[in-house]
Amino acid sequence: MAGKIWVYIDHFKGKPLPASWEAVSAGAKLGEVTALAFGQDAEALAKQAIHYGASDAFFADDAGLADFRGEPYASLISKLAKEHQPEAILFPGSTRGRELAAMAAIDLDSGVLPDVIEIKDEGEKLAAVRPIYAGKLFSKVVCNSKPALLTLRVRAFGKPVVDTGRSGTTTKVEAAIAEKDIATKIAEYKTVEGRVSLGDAAVIVSGGRGTSNNPNLTPPAEITDEKQKEIWRAQQGFKMIGELAGVLSAAVGASRAAVDAGYVPYRHQVGQTGKVVSPDLYIALGISGAIQHLAGMRTSKVIVAVNKDPDAPIFKMSRFGVVGDLYEIVPALTKAFKERLHK
Ligand SMILES: Cc1cc2nc3c(=O)[nH]c(=O)nc-3n(C[C@H](O)[C@H](O)[C@H](O)COP(=O)(O)OP(=O)(O)OC[C@H]3O[C@@H](n4cnc5c(N)ncnc54)[C@H](O)[C@@H]3O)c2cc1C
Repeated sequence: MAGKIWVYIDHFKGKPLPASWEAVSAGAKLGEVTALAFGQDAEALAKQAIHYGASDAFFADDAGLADFRGEPYASLISKLAKEHQPEAILFPGSTRGRELAAMAAIDLDSGVLPDVIEIKDEGEKLAAVRPIYAGKLFSKVVCNSKPALLTLRVRAFGKPVVDTGRSGTTTKVEAAIAEKDIATKIAEYKTVEGRVSLGDAAVIVSGGRGTSNNPNLTPPAEITDEKQKEIWRAQQGFKMIGELAGVLSAAVGASRAAVDAGYVPYRHQVGQTGKVVSPDLYIALGISGAIQHLAGMRTSKVIVAVNKDPDAPIFKMSRFGVVGDLYEIVPALTKAFKERLHK
């Protein structure tokens, strides 16, 4: 395909998202890639992008770009794009990447192809494949305006290839708007998650409503309310799931039923109204496999399900299924993985 492919490098305080390198590698298969790195350690990120397959890079590290904010970042992308006319701009499908693609598309009077899992070079245009109807169908879409802006589903494009011997030009550019013209200010950051984040995780261990179903667990005497007893039981289940996740260096996910019932916070929810994930391994424990849950994890490479009900729909999606009680199976899995992985 003629023309340049640009790739936005998403990072937090200079720490790049692995999905950024997936996007660079995906772009490099289509043509010459120019990476865009803004903010803290932007020059180092630009150089790293070249190692992952970019031919060159623009970087900007003005004080106003130190923290991610949509307005200065999108305005710089659109200013550069108007000057250099790339064919397409790829963004990792992170929250920041999606926000930025939408804002830049408005500035550039172009369109966004979101949640892309495959890109096809069709000569004149790029065609993007994306899941629709909760992943039941795939649609092939093209963007009739230029540049086409695409957000790439995290972990859908395979492992990026790194070559630290690669070299390319990095060009420093200036912010497009002054601080006084930026409406938002970052007041503070709060860490809410100590563990591996769901979006980037190679392995996810998820629990559902089934975690509350262990009549052998007796809640402490001070818990008298039936709902609180249910939550307490489920939390013991999630502790057990956390141990398995720890052994596998995995993130902990949950179904919406588990989140709505108050077993775990919303940030763990996988599915149509939660996070969409594509890990190498997804272990579903006490999850029935409702279509809205499948929408968030059906592109996982290997799905393993543990469920008491042999007819649970999750088994239709699973490579490996265990019909049994998660309270028996999970400790056995944790023990076996500990031995195998020498942990
Ligand atoms: C608009 C909309 C959006 C939605 N978005 C989402 C979403 O983003 N994510 C999501 O997950 N859901 C979502 N849902 C809800 C979805 O429809 C289901 O209600 C939900 O996924 C069910 O969660 P679950 O599988 O944990 O619970 P259940 O369907 O109740 O299944 C529990 C399973 O646990 C098994 N079980 C019970 N005890 C044990 C045991 N001891 N050991 C092993 N197995 C056991 C049971 O056999 C059962 O299969 C959405 C619904 C709507 C309408």
